[in-house]
Amino acid sequence: MKQIYLDNAATTRMRPEALEAMMPHLSEAYGNASSIYPLGEEAASALAEARRTVAQAINAQDREVLFTSGGSESDNWALIATAEAYESKGRHIVTSAIEHHAILHTAEYLEKRGFEITYLPVDEDGRVSPTDLEAAMRPDTILVSIMFANNEIGTIEPIAELAKVAHDHGALFHTDAVQAFGHIPIDVKEMGIDLLSASAHKVYGPKGTGLLYIRKGVKTKAFIHGGRQERGLRAGTENVAGIVGFASATELALAEQEEEAARLAKLRDYAIGRIEREIPYSRLNGHRTERLPNNVNFSFEFIEGEGMLLQLAFKGISASSGSACTSGSLDPSHVLLAIGLPHEIAHGSLRLTLGRETTRDDIDFAIDSLKGTIDNLRAMSPLYEDFLKAHKQAS
Ligand SMILES: *Cc1c(COP(=O)(O)O)cnc(C)c1O
Repeated sequence: MKQIYLDNAATTRMRPEALEAMMPHLSEAYGNASSIYPLGEEAASALAEARRTVAQAINAQDREVLFTSGGSESDNWALIATAEAYESKGRHIVTSAIEHHAILHTAEYLEKRGFEITYLPVDEDGRVSPTDLEAAMRPDTILVSIMFANNEIGTIEPIAELAKVAHDHGALFHTDAVQAFGHIPIDVKEMGIDLLSASAHKVYGPKGTGLLYIRKGVKTKAFIHGGRQERGLRAGTENVAGIVGFASATELALAEQEEEAARLAKLRDYAIGRIEREIPYSRLNGHRTERLPNNVNFSFEFIEGEGMLLQLAFKGISASSGSACTSGSLDPSHVLLAIGLPHEIAHGSLRLTLGRETTRDDIDFAIDSLKGTIDNLRAMSPLYEDFLKAHKQAS
């Protein structure tokens, strides 16, 4: 059976060029970048080159980029180390209600350590308002952390405006750009970003590699203690192969970005249009235009999300109900609740995230299957039956 993968926000299939770039570093080029003989130098120069590539992708200097094990580590580092480095100035941090759990759970950890966190609400499209941020800023606010684009509903935040508000009040600005990096343009200098998290496996690179950008002049603390790797801030022998794969994937994503983003946005809008026209009682979640080019997220009334996902999986379609981390739990997504959906509607939600291998035929097949699935599930739903009866009586 044909498999259609529509969960690229959860992870992406590594592109062959990235795998190929990694291979030597998993075999003959196995040196430790800290060693002085040629094998070590080879690893060190591969690292330096990779650092230059990913730094250029966001208009940063090489020195401002630290390699990590992925987006979660970068988010943990950004929040915890910044909190510790600036706690003499204040203990207040502002973030949003729709962040990834790598931010939200780190914020909770910091709350237990005596920091105060403000969780900004979002509007019905999932946007954080700069006016709300302005009102939340205090003299003791040290850091604002707002994601670049949301992983569930695809909404892109007004990053430059939010960063400006943070700076006007003397705070630093961090963004979790895991879903945006490589997919849409990011310029840390132009946008006023002080810290930024990214992850390789969301951009067709390998799992287990990411980066944290820390602007020159921003204080931080060592996050892993040990050797002198990553300027003494993150100890541990570098994952050279992973980092080289990350750089390769980044370089190619950037070269293709404009064209691929336009292709995906067109497919996305085609999918959204078909669902809105052909499936009644559906609602698009997330902003219609300020939206990641690959994200489609809908709620369907009278539908239970897990049942829908299982039926789709049966037809060879890999999709998700929200974030990969919350699938399998019965709690509705915190993002869908934050945009104001009632529990029962949030439960009937579907996220389709397209990727570089997604075609128009895939979308058509997925939506045809979805229509059948929703008809089936609604036919079995007593709530839907009652609703139809009431509807008939009313008309
Ligand atoms: C996937 C994701 C993360 C976590 O990245 P990992 O590399 O899997 O640790 C963090 N934030 C967002 C927005 C994500 O989508």
